[in-house]
Amino acid sequence: METEKVKCLIIGSGPAGYTAAIYAARANLSPVLYEGLQPGGQLTTTTDVENFPGYPEGISGTQMMDDLRRQAERFGTDLRFGVATAADLSKSPYKITIDEEKVIEAQTIIIATGAAAKYLGLEDEKKYAGMGVSACATCDGFFYRKKVVAVVGGGDTACEEASYLAGLASKVYLIVRKPFLRASKIMQERVMSNEKIEVLFEHNAVGLYGDNGVEGVHLVKRMGEPDEERYDLAIDGFFLAIGHKPNSDIFKPYVDTDETGYILTEPGTPRTKVPGVFAAGDVADPHYRQAITAAATGCMAAIEAERYLLG
Ligand SMILES: Cc1cc2nc3c(=O)[nH]c(=O)nc-3n(C[C@H](O)[C@H](O)[C@H](O)COP(=O)(O)OP(=O)(O)OC[C@H]3O[C@@H](n4cnc5c(N)ncnc54)[C@H](O)[C@@H]3O)c2cc1C
Repeated sequence: METEKVKCLIIGSGPAGYTAAIYAARANLSPVLYEGLQPGGQLTTTTDVENFPGYPEGISGTQMMDDLRRQAERFGTDLRFGVATAADLSKSPYKITIDEEKVIEAQTIIIATGAAAKYLGLEDEKKYAGMGVSACATCDGFFYRKKVVAVVGGGDTACEEASYLAGLASKVYLIVRKPFLRASKIMQERVMSNEKIEVLFEHNAVGLYGDNGVEGVHLVKRMGEPDEERYDLAIDGFFLAIGHKPNSDIFKPYVDTDETGYILTEPGTPRTKVPGVFAAGDVADPHYRQAITAAATGCMAAIEAERYLLG
């Protein structure tokens, strides 16, 4: 198989990957960046980004990622299409296989492969994407001030998202499949004591409706039971909070991950337990999952890579 040696390999082209590339290129590391199946990352699937500093009027996600890409390119990043399909991080130089046909031998690697929100798998989630369906309350909650929203999920994240949205919306329904919440006691209490939040236990969302974006959700109470009930609930926004899947599978044999697959790094740094291998952005962040935090850790990873190469 064809082999190429590089100083700094960046895997992923979201805010973390492109920011790492800007810093690494300006530090003369001649970075090579593979963009993966989703050039520009998650933000290319949204309409407006209103919380990234520097854009007082907001900016479309696609435009922002295009700007970041061009900035990375301007300083000489070698941007390539391709997917990392296998990894051998057992010893330096580390080997990453691209598209099962080429091996990159890298002195340093920045893993910036992101994470994907989980959806229920309803056709309507795609139909109303960006028109009332969201998987990020921090990103989109602001658009639902004084409106009625539903959050799907029963864990800590769902309770957090519901509590956050209750600070903005007039009413929050928490749709929970089970007859109980899986969240920690403290989060349960926070939700149950919030008068704006109504928990709908033993409910499944089975579809959405609306002519102009989401106007309601089709619900089934006690699905499959003899006393099953079907009804529609008017809402303006439908938030998924049933978890994320970090894109870390090929690295798992070498780096530490938590039970969900988020890469664990040394606290406050993007250092994994493999020297010279760094993780930035959502792939290592179960908590914040924002473009600005991804960009910040991308910057940190590039600075770490530079220092590592200097010895
Ligand atoms: C609909 C939506 C709206 C959002 N709105 C906002 C918002 O308004 N403000 C905000 O701050 N955040 C928002 N977010 C969150 C934000 O998009 C993420 O926090 C951010 O994109 C994470 O950046 P990242 O660089 O870690 O990875 P991602 O953006 O997830 O990008 C991952 C990259 O890795 C690549 N990749 C994955 N696997 C491989 C592989 N094996 N080989 C090569 N490449 C690979 C992908 O192709 C992709 O380019 C939103 C997210 C979504 C889904």
